[in-house]
Amino acid sequence: MSVVAPNVAGPGPGMTEDLERLRADFPILRTRIRGKPLVYFDNAATTQKPRSVIDMERRYYEEWNANIHRGVHWLSEKATHEYEHARDTVCAFLNARSRKEIIYTRGTTEAINLVAQSFARPRLRPGDEVLITAMEHHSNIVPWQMVCQLTGARLRVVPITDDGELVAGEFERSLNERTRIAAIVHVSNALGTINPVRHMVAAAHARDVPVLLDGAQAVAHMPVDVQALDCDFYAFSGHKIFGPTGTGVLYGREELLENMPPYQGGGDMIRTVSFENTTYADLPAKFEAGTPNIAGGIGLGAAIDYVQTVGLQRMAAHEHELLRYATARAREVPGLRVIGQAREKAAVLSFLLNDIHPHDVGTILDSEGIAIRTGHHCAMPIMTRYKIPATARASFAFYNTREEVDRLFVALEIARKVFTR
Ligand code: PLP
Repeated sequence: MSVVAPNVAGPGPGMTEDLERLRADFPILRTRIRGKPLVYFDNAATTQKPRSVIDMERRYYEEWNANIHRGVHWLSEKATHEYEHARDTVCAFLNARSRKEIIYTRGTTEAINLVAQSFARPRLRPGDEVLITAMEHHSNIVPWQMVCQLTGARLRVVPITDDGELVAGEFERSLNERTRIAAIVHVSNALGTINPVRHMVAAAHARDVPVLLDGAQAVAHMPVDVQALDCDFYAFSGHKIFGPTGTGVLYGREELLENMPPYQGGGDMIRTVSFENTTYADLPAKFEAGTPNIAGGIGLGAAIDYVQTVGLQRMAAHEHELLRYATARAREVPGLRVIGQAREKAAVLSFLLNDIHPHDVGTILDSEGIAIRTGHHCAMPIMTRYKIPATARASFAFYNTREEVDRLFVALEIARKVFTR
């Protein structure tokens, strides 16, 4: 694939010296909001897109636009080649064993629904259990509730501590002869907690329980190797890793995917169709009914190329430093309470400021050009756990700077003054 190379020198030990050049790869970061330079701290909701991703989507529409897979003409073959090449990129990125294990989806949500409906539903019987944790996103709760309702199985939830960590030993104790699958968030979007998923997968496998990992918040912040994790399914969204919205991936172990029925029926997922009988295509096509988001899939490949050029280790180290700095600053703000203080944490700072409603905090920050998210972050059970309606959440990406964190705290001081008059 002809990738527009990001404007960087390549992976190196630190990134501070490269930061301005890297930021220039993201056109939106030059935007001014209400006359002030944008500070984008809503990366857990979606990340910004580098020029190489935008250019790749534009190139598809300008130069290669055609439907994929069944065409004999040049454009269709080119589009197919680029789309399938992006699958190879994802496969290598996750260190999957085979491209057959990489299923394109609309995002994490669709990937989890696919596993719930196609893998779990036929296997669940009344009294069986689906094991999740108390820090799941709604996307990793509701699909399981739906299959539980259909099958008579029940959802079992591993509790968390006040710091936002799983209660020690509870996951292992909750695994039993009725557990049919465990579905665990790799990194919590609301708390930032990084779960010890490698250990959890091993504990589940020791009881023959397959494991799905929700990697929506992990893939853009740490290297993910599905073979090293030994997970059975891994789901992520393209838009959270600097790629297009409406794209995502389900990694599934080939032998499991082979034995699962298709999730949706239609074009592209079939081998033969008659009114009497239909036979299905081989993996991965079996799970990809209908015309996909072709431009998006190609753009996702470009996003992963970009991430690999910058270097995930370097990104993670920079984000960790930002989080450390922001957490230290947060401690100095009277009345600021950080929600989620796990020892292993990704770059998410969820907080409450005195008794000011998070939406009001968000509005004041917006007037200063700072974009954060406020609300329940699609994790209402976490809010219930902490007996709070919402939090304000600043979430960092590698392109954020220490100066931006300083601006956040200046704006929080404004909010504090406005609301404590
Ligand atoms: N899981 C987690 C942990 C998330 O943070 C999100 C999105 O915020 C999702 C799942 C759902 O992702 P999507 O809406 O892209 O399907």
